[in-house]
Amino acid sequence: MHEREIPVLIVGGSLVGLTTSLLLSARGVPNLVVERHRGTAIHPRAASFHQRSMEIFRSVGLQQEIEEAAAREFVQGGAIVSVESLSGKELKYFFKSYNEGVEDLSPTSRLFITQVGLEPIIRRRAASLGAEHRYSTELVSFEQSSDGVRAIIRPRDGGDEELIHAQYLVAADGAHSSIRQRLGIPMLGRGSFAHCVTIYFRADVRPMLRGRNLSVVYVNHPTLLGFFRFSIEGDSGFLAVFVTSDADGSNRTTDIAAGATMERCVEYVRTALGCGPEVPIEIENVQPWHAQAGWAERFSDGRVLLVGDAAHVMPPTGGFGGNTGIADAHNLAWKLAAVLDGSAGPGLLATYDAERRPAAALTVEQAYTRYVLRVDSTLPQDDLAPPLDDASIELGIVYHSAAVAPSVADPAAPPLDDPRTPSGRLGTRLPHIPITWNGATASLLDVANDSLVLLAGPEGGAWVNAADAVAQKLGVRLRAYRVGPDADLVADAQAFTQATGIGPGGVVLVRPDGVLAWSAADPVADPTGAVAAIMRQILCRD
Ligand SMILES: Cc1cc2nc3c(=O)[nH]c(=O)nc-3n(C[C@H](O)[C@H](O)[C@H](O)COP(=O)(O)OP(=O)(O)OC[C@H]3O[C@@H](n4cnc5c(N)ncnc54)[C@H](O)[C@@H]3O)c2cc1C
Repeated sequence: MHEREIPVLIVGGSLVGLTTSLLLSARGVPNLVVERHRGTAIHPRAASFHQRSMEIFRSVGLQQEIEEAAAREFVQGGAIVSVESLSGKELKYFFKSYNEGVEDLSPTSRLFITQVGLEPIIRRRAASLGAEHRYSTELVSFEQSSDGVRAIIRPRDGGDEELIHAQYLVAADGAHSSIRQRLGIPMLGRGSFAHCVTIYFRADVRPMLRGRNLSVVYVNHPTLLGFFRFSIEGDSGFLAVFVTSDADGSNRTTDIAAGATMERCVEYVRTALGCGPEVPIEIENVQPWHAQAGWAERFSDGRVLLVGDAAHVMPPTGGFGGNTGIADAHNLAWKLAAVLDGSAGPGLLATYDAERRPAAALTVEQAYTRYVLRVDSTLPQDDLAPPLDDASIELGIVYHSAAVAPSVADPAAPPLDDPRTPSGRLGTRLPHIPITWNGATASLLDVANDSLVLLAGPEGGAWVNAADAVAQKLGVRLRAYRVGPDADLVADAQAFTQATGIGPGGVVLVRPDGVLAWSAADPVADPTGAVAAIMRQILCRD
């Protein structure tokens, strides 16, 4: 059998596997992706991508390309609305315009682009950075030891099996993850609550849209609960159906997939559009899937790390599923890179589970709350997590782990940070502040994406001077800048110190994933010693 060594093997080459591959490749970590399908997505599925995901893609130079591709697919900035039917009564606007109120929080915008449009962009960039992607290839089996993972992969065209020796295995193999199952990791949460279908159809919906720019349309019809997305041309779209019943509420079913004949699918689309037989409807494809809400009991097992739907599943209400997976990949990639190049101890990888599992569990519950409130209000509401602000879920996740100091959560603190009023809470994302850097306009976020970075206040020169000594002492990359009106990073000094919670002589330490790891409000007598000590802690070196 042919044998091959690779630091990281990624199983699953869809949205999250490809993003992991891209972010590892951007950090110089060789990786191999194996994907059972012949290529990237052929069904649109995820389309709403949040600002944090776009910031992650911006960090590898993809913002513009993705925005241009998105503009070809959708008129951006549409509304998210609930209707009785597309032609009928509007019930509630959840967003009048998708980016309203969040424009200043990020150098990016929330964006609509399908997985069909997005995945090839991620794949191309990852490949150009050296990643190897093998489609029509599946993982057959794997075993792990304290030294590494041995995995057998096989081309689906009947070619020879290959033995892969990897340091780490990333399971990006989706909601039915065979890797998770083989490790015996149970799912927690609420399980499956509807066996839905997504019906891809062609029909001229322009007269029913009546000029409205609607990004997502929830349908709350007496006989059908679901949601629509439409193509930019208005001549096609999909309808996801969660629940059907008779008009009086009887014969209610959540097992839509079981009886989804072509005739019935046409009927569902007609009902949800609110049109008669004069509108021709052609069904192109019907995809069954389970609406679930759950997360894996642990996100890692030895040298295997779960990301994306393999680690958490949630209903599409809120558009969180793919975005949460992208955040997993971002959290994991720098940690794998640091452990593999020896700048961090293996304990850093344990912080992946400690950080991402609670974040995913919170997000799953928020997606479920939105499912009940936006789609199926007949479900029990007494155990629902209260709905939290969307921008805070997207940009205000707070991590507690050994890779953040202090690592213990304050039980009195809110679960999320509000990105509109950042305070420098440790474990949160570095806030976006417009800066001038080397004469060009940028965001503070652009500074912290490829190594640990010290950002000092306008009077914090001593911290900057300490960085080289710390980097040499520990053998790690550490960059340092002053931020202020006459500093390396030109910015409003007060905006920076307020948003990071430090004084003019203080400093924040930012991780390569843009998370605030530590801060000192004021100068200290031995900045080199202080930074070296905290770096050892954050990188789990002891
Ligand atoms: C109708 C709908 C709308 C949605 N809308 C949104 C949205 O607007 N925003 C959002 O963020 N999310 C949305 N989601 C969720 C989003 O689509 C998923 O969270 C996302 O696709 C998960 O990506 P993934 O890469 O983790 O898993 P998947 O996309 O499931 O990919 C897993 C891959 O692993 C491969 N695989 C499995 N086993 C093996 C093996 N043994 N060997 C090789 N390959 C293997 C599979 O072939 C598959 O391609 C939506 C979902 C649905 C159904």
